[in-house]
Amino acid sequence: MDGDITTGSESAVLELDGAVGEGGGQILRSALTLAMVTGRPFRIRCIRANRPKPGLMRQHLVAVQAAAGICGATVDGAALGSQELAFRPGPVTGGDYRFAIGSAGSCTLVLQTVLPALLTASQPSTLRLVGGTHNPMAPPVQFLQRAWLPRLAEMGARIDLRLERFGFYPAGGGIVEAHVAPCARLEPRTWTTRGERRGGRAEAFVAGVPERVARRELECVGQAMNWSADQLQACVLPAEQGPGNALVLTLDYEHVSEVFTAFGEKAVSSEQVARQAVQRARQYQASQAAFAEYLADQLMLPLALAGGGGFTMDEVSMHARTNAGVIELFLPVRLRFDRVDGVDRCTVEAR
Ligand code: ATP
Repeated sequence: MDGDITTGSESAVLELDGAVGEGGGQILRSALTLAMVTGRPFRIRCIRANRPKPGLMRQHLVAVQAAAGICGATVDGAALGSQELAFRPGPVTGGDYRFAIGSAGSCTLVLQTVLPALLTASQPSTLRLVGGTHNPMAPPVQFLQRAWLPRLAEMGARIDLRLERFGFYPAGGGIVEAHVAPCARLEPRTWTTRGERRGGRAEAFVAGVPERVARRELECVGQAMNWSADQLQACVLPAEQGPGNALVLTLDYEHVSEVFTAFGEKAVSSEQVARQAVQRARQYQASQAAFAEYLADQLMLPLALAGGGGFTMDEVSMHARTNAGVIELFLPVRLRFDRVDGVDRCTVEAR
């Protein structure tokens, strides 16, 4: 990673620079998770410095509030647009929690911020979130359900996630509920290969958007992926959950499932939406890696909490390298990226 993410790392309070590496929201979210789990306080400046609108957006602010509520943290700087924050965590307490993002800001990113901490609580938890469930630049709920949570389950985490109502960008209003069982310790796991192909399918979700849009997207996916009609499903949601359109491709393998999503937008044709999703799926199919870019991003932190393990990945993104830098500040682990037999690999080692 370019530069040093900390300043004054000798003090008990970790000082983070949110402009380092990718300079996006993940630096803050990972710091919140890790502070909750380790009890280590931190201060961060230049939050999301490399984004067009720096500082805390609604999704980041609710992540801060949710984290603070769950561990009784003392927080300074928790306001929309704030570019500095101080977070001093207390003990994580399981229980029933509800948070509303109040925009299409991503419920799944807020969930991912606090779920690893709720696993460490001594009581079970229920977490209900209102906000975006399907928006670009964040994992859709099906990604968590099919790709992320099953891998966490292999590490010992029992989390049940339900999607009650879709929330598309820009209206939001989606509802998700997670039930989290305490987990004394996440177990290290290694995913080197994806294993045999087990199946593939596409779902085109439309809410307040004509069904023919979904049908057209599916027709294009069917042709491009050589999939038959029983692998293609148009899902017409109640109009009040929209307007919105998400095309979700799921590829199941022996050891992993991957989910690739593209979103319909005004002035973007169904063919273009289908092409985007297919392109991502094909890039993954063409590689030998167990995980595609996003799943790789999202499993680094759980593996670091487990203290070991790793995976092969189809791309080492700036996001992943930046996240690794934050994780290494809080935990006694090293995340190593290398390339073996033409495939990128991430290895988590205790140090
Ligand atoms: P910003 O950087 O503007 O603060 P952010 O906080 O919303 O934005 P990032 O820091 O870029 O977002 O992190 C986005 C996260 O969402 C990453 O973990 C990435 O893996 C995940 N993600 C983005 N798009 C998808 C997708 N289509 N499917 C699965 N995961 C996704």
